[in-house]
Amino acid sequence: MNAPFLPAPFEDELLDGYLGRCCAAHCCTNAKSLIAGLGAHLQLPGPCSTQAAIAAGLTITPQQVLFRLTTLPAQRAFAPSHKRDGRPRTEALYLMGVQMRSKVEAMTCAACLNEDRKHGRTSYWRRIHHLPDVDWCPIHREALLKFDPKAFRHRPTDALAQGPGVRLALPTAFDAASILGRYAGLLAHWLQRDFVGSSAALTHVIRDGCTSHELRWTETGRRPLVSDLIARQVPTEWLALHWPDLLTKTPGEYFARLDGPSKDKHVSYPGAACALVLATLFDSVSEIQARLEEAESRFVSSPDTVRDGALNAAYLDFINGAKIDTACRTQQVSAEQLEQRIRDEAKRWSRATDGAPRATPHRRRSPLPASASVHRPSVAKSSGLEPLSLALAQ
Ligand SMILES: [Zn+2]
Repeated sequence: MNAPFLPAPFEDELLDGYLGRCCAAHCCTNAKSLIAGLGAHLQLPGPCSTQAAIAAGLTITPQQVLFRLTTLPAQRAFAPSHKRDGRPRTEALYLMGVQMRSKVEAMTCAACLNEDRKHGRTSYWRRIHHLPDVDWCPIHREALLKFDPKAFRHRPTDALAQGPGVRLALPTAFDAASILGRYAGLLAHWLQRDFVGSSAALTHVIRDGCTSHELRWTETGRRPLVSDLIARQVPTEWLALHWPDLLTKTPGEYFARLDGPSKDKHVSYPGAACALVLATLFDSVSEIQARLEEAESRFVSSPDTVRDGALNAAYLDFINGAKIDTACRTQQVSAEQLEQRIRDEAKRWSRATDGAPRATPHRRRSPLPASASVHRPSVAKSSGLEPLSLALAQ
């Protein structure tokens, strides 16, 4: 049943403001009674979530509600793939119960409101003014005005007419060429996506950036970390507001919330942390996006496609004497993929040449570290697979 009950959302409209607009249209005192009324109108079973009720009212999926009406695409820009097929990341995000931010404050930009007024448009609460820790309008680069969440019941122009709101503090540098400008640019870009990126691709790109800045991504070591670079280069007054712990850490100390994305591709780090790391390591949003897209195309490719291309070349490099990390860097593949390929080849060789059961056939082997160099006897170059299987079986 389609519902004339609900107006169509505006472009980039924030769910909280949309609910406020719907409440005003139906004389509901709060969103809870609106959702209950919508559920009864559409004959939805039992108490249902806001997303489920709005989705049913707009005849879209709950996942589309999250991606079109909330800042979730920027907040959760990357997630690990399931079983390396890359496909279920976006679907899994909703099923995992990752939802919109709660108790979001109402923020708007005076210049955006002026433009709405000038063009005779209704003003509304926009997602782009609610990006995590972006205290300015990414379009006009003006400080945002913050209102109590109750303001969502009114149009932003009406809220502004009732009181000036709180003008958010601006950092010293947030133009397009600055780290914070790139940070906001990345989040604004991800906000428009209808998919979640691959954590493995993200980790790959960040490691490239760390390498070019001579940073480490391991927990221990002598080289500085990306968190050290961020603490040094991002405006202190902004860090004091949003990342105060970073200002008190000692140089070289591992800071998991920012150093983690370069190390652990199996964890979904907040989009804000990923954006800050990338914005610090690279010079432009377009460069970062190109790198991510290139890595994404490689990591989302089917294993067979990858196997035929760069991975095959990396494997041959390894057979011919290159270290794993050198082969990976040269052919632009992940250490995990190459290690898996080496193991697959070793197993294949073992199956083909050794019919006798092993003494400990199910013994788990610890994964090879990215920088490990597997022992290769000198016959490796001539016979290829044999020494590898021997080395891995030890
Ligand atoms: Zn604006």
